[in-house]
Amino acid sequence: MTNRAQAQHCDVAVVGSGVVGLAAAAGLALAGHRVTLVRREPAPPARGSDPAWDERVYAVSPASRALLEALGAWQRLDHSRVAPVYDMRVYSASELHFGAYETGIEALASIIEQDNIAQALEEVVRDAGSVTQLVAEVTSVDLVTDFCSAALGLGSGVRLQARLVVAADGADSPLRTMAGIGFEEQVYPQRALVAHLATEHSHRDCAYQWFGDHGILALLPLPPAGSGAGLGRCSVVWSAPTALAEELARATPEEFARRVQAACGAALGTMTPLGPVLGFPLRRRIAATLLGPRLALVGDAGHLVHPLAGQGLNLGLGDITDLVAALKRAGAPDGDDPGRRLRLLRYQRARALPIAAMGTTTGALQQLFDPATPDALGSLSGAFIATRELGWRVLEHAPVLKRMLIARAIG
Ligand SMILES: Cc1cc2nc3c(=O)[nH]c(=O)nc-3n(C[C@H](O)[C@H](O)[C@H](O)COP(=O)(O)OP(=O)(O)OC[C@H]3O[C@@H](n4cnc5c(N)ncnc54)[C@H](O)[C@@H]3O)c2cc1C
Repeated sequence: MTNRAQAQHCDVAVVGSGVVGLAAAAGLALAGHRVTLVRREPAPPARGSDPAWDERVYAVSPASRALLEALGAWQRLDHSRVAPVYDMRVYSASELHFGAYETGIEALASIIEQDNIAQALEEVVRDAGSVTQLVAEVTSVDLVTDFCSAALGLGSGVRLQARLVVAADGADSPLRTMAGIGFEEQVYPQRALVAHLATEHSHRDCAYQWFGDHGILALLPLPPAGSGAGLGRCSVVWSAPTALAEELARATPEEFARRVQAACGAALGTMTPLGPVLGFPLRRRIAATLLGPRLALVGDAGHLVHPLAGQGLNLGLGDITDLVAALKRAGAPDGDDPGRRLRLLRYQRARALPIAAMGTTTGALQQLFDPATPDALGSLSGAFIATRELGWRVLEHAPVLKRMLIARAIG
């Protein structure tokens, strides 16, 4: 039920306070829009001086770093907890190496805890001045209220009228559902397990990934774990076939560390746990469109991809860069009507290729290395595996192709 006495107005209503929603609120406010951020939970208190490590970490690409810098969030990170990635080694039957040096960039990525990024963005949003924050659940959406605005019904009784609604409400996006936007979905026969481990040997600022019957195992570098716990600290993201994932989820953290150590051939020596093991389902979900009348989907609400390339958040931050740019009128100051269809179409066009490319690449790689794929090919399985390994070797000796792949991953 709406309450006319509690009607509020803004230029842009951003729904969802994950990293993408916070970046949207910050970016749109800095571009001159009056923003209302609708969030389920109040902003968390500032992090203490030495908070527990957050198991959820992101490989943040140089393009995402550029956005965070432009928003002033990069400068507010706790940099003692950020690790650069200078090299990446990917193993199947042979090894592929990607290097920042040979690519001519400072680092391939930066590994950052979710809490660290979120806290920095919370500060930017708090200090932005033109962001109003409402703690409430969106319960209804009326995208055709009139020709000038859309309306959100909030659980708090407030009716929020906005010229543009930005849905940053995650993979299960209630707004996407309420707007009647469908999606294409693929449920992967895998589950991701993530944990932090101390390692006997240093990772030497290198990210590692192994493709095999065990699924896809990635080790991401983190700052050292301190004396006595080994030389290195790394984040494990193990996308394991369902049966194995269930077995690993039942294991103790110590047993999980031993299994990781065995699966990667003790590449970093003995491994010991530094915290719990978390599990995530793996799906690909691509929305049929990023747009509704006066509505734009961003982040996982628009596209959920397999984490094997570590690109989901980067894709979402790319949405924010392109959305902010699309809402600007060429040669005119910001402002005016951010929900104009032409501007939204500009946003959708800019995102079409990156989203299609990432969805297709991660899906194809997952399938290429899914142990079930050769089984399904029967007598052709030997040829399939040989061709796959040949492609891998060709890529390692094709620097131009490798540079193209890196450009796609960092851009
Ligand atoms: C194992 C794993 C590893 C990953 N590693 C990487 C990586 O290395 N690099 C990378 O780029 N990406 C990575 N990703 C992907 C990344 O986690 C996601 O793409 C990213 O978190 C999506 O952010 P988001 O803000 O769009 O959505 P979310 O983080 O899901 O946030 C959605 C927000 O909306 C709120 N919300 C929902 N409904 C409502 C409502 N009705 N009203 C108000 N608020 C609402 C929720 O409470 C939440 O705060 C990984 C993913 C997994 C599973």
